[in-house]
Amino acid sequence: MAHQMIYDQLLIQPKIWKNLTDYFNKNKLPHALLLYGNEGIGKEAHAIEFASFVNCTGKNKSESCGMCASCRKMKILQHGNLKLIHPMPRKKTIKNFDSPLKSFSKSELEDYHNQLILKGENPYYKINLSKSNSILINSIRSLKKELALSSIEEGWNIILIMEAEKLCYPNNVSANSLLKILEEPPKKTLFILTTSNYSKIIDTVKSRCQTIFFPPISIDKIYNIIDDSISDADKLVIATISNGSIDIAKKIENNIKGMYDNLKLFITSCYDTNCSYNSKVIEKISSIRRSSNSKNELSIFFKSIMIYFKDLLIYSNSKNINDVVYKNLEEHYNKITNYNTNTDWDLCITVIENTCDYIDRNAYAPLAINGMLIELKNIVGNKYHAVFNMHEWLGIE
Ligand SMILES: [Zn+2]
Repeated sequence: MAHQMIYDQLLIQPKIWKNLTDYFNKNKLPHALLLYGNEGIGKEAHAIEFASFVNCTGKNKSESCGMCASCRKMKILQHGNLKLIHPMPRKKTIKNFDSPLKSFSKSELEDYHNQLILKGENPYYKINLSKSNSILINSIRSLKKELALSSIEEGWNIILIMEAEKLCYPNNVSANSLLKILEEPPKKTLFILTTSNYSKIIDTVKSRCQTIFFPPISIDKIYNIIDDSISDADKLVIATISNGSIDIAKKIENNIKGMYDNLKLFITSCYDTNCSYNSKVIEKISSIRRSSNSKNELSIFFKSIMIYFKDLLIYSNSKNINDVVYKNLEEHYNKITNYNTNTDWDLCITVIENTCDYIDRNAYAPLAINGMLIELKNIVGNKYHAVFNMHEWLGIE
C-alpha cells in the first residue's frame, strides 16, 4: 500500500494510521487527540497527513489523494482549515487578543515562513523559533477568536498543537485556556496535540484527549533509510545513536565526522593523566548547548559516549566484535579489555546517565561535566595510559 500522500519521506506507522482512519470512517472522531512518543518519529507529520486525509476530496478509505485542491494546500501548510500552534517568542509589545505573529519583525516573519516551507517538505523538520519556550496565551486567545468567527464550509478544522507540553510552561495559563475550548469544542473541529514530554502535560488536558502512543522506530528501519553513500558500519552507529528518531539519524548522517570528533575528544579526556582535556570537553558541550537545536545535539553527544561504554561492557564479556556498535574500535577494545578485566563499565554508563539528568534539570553544566569526567577517570583509571598511545589509535593530532 503506497502511503505517501502528503509527505513522500514519512515512515507511516501502519497501526496508528489505521486507528486514525478508522475513527474517521466510522464517524467516531474524538474532539481531541494527544499523540506522544520520542522526538523525531513523525508525530506532527502523522497529524498533518491526517488533517489532509479528513479534508481531501479525492480520498479512499485509507489514503488522501495528494492531488486535489485541498491536498495541494495542505502540502505547503497553507490550508485554511489547518491551524498550527507552537511555542513562540514572548514580546512586550503584544496586545491582549492579538496573534503573536503580529509582534514579529519582518525578518522574524520571513524566517517563520521559511520554516513552514521546510516543514511542508520534510516530515521530520522541527519548527524552532528563537527564544520560544512556551505556547503563549495569545496563541490560544487568537485561536478562540478565529474559531468563533470561522464558518467551516467544507471539511474539518484541524488545530495542531506542537510541543503541547509547553502549554504548561512556565505556568498552566495557556493549558487552562485551551481546556475551556476542549470542554465545549466547536463542530467539525479536531484538536491534535503532539508531545515528546507526555509527563509534563497536566492531567486535565490529558483527560480531554484520546491518547495515542508512538513507539520508537526500530534500529533496522532507520538503518534502511540511511543514505547508501554511508558505510554499513557507520549506518549501524547512526541507527543506534538515533534511538528510534529519524530526525536525529538525519542530523548525524549530515555530520558523522563531527560526531566522531566529539567522541574522540571525550575518550581522550577520560584516559588523560592530567585534566588538560576537561576544559576542551566542557567548551565543546557548552557550544553544543548554545546551538539552535541543542536538545538533539546534546542527546547525540551523550548517546554516543554511552554506547562506547556499553560496547566495552559487552566486549569484555563476549570478545566478539559483532556484538559492538563501534566496530572500528576493535583493536582498542581488545587492548583495554585484555589489560584490565575488573573495570566497572556499567558504572560509567550510570555516571553519564546521572550527568544527563543533572543537565536536564538545569544544573550548572560545566560543573556537572567536570564532575563526570573526574568520576570516569577514577573508574577507568589512568592505568591504561601507559599501555598504549591514545592519540595514535584515535587518530588525534
Ligand atoms: Zn486530496
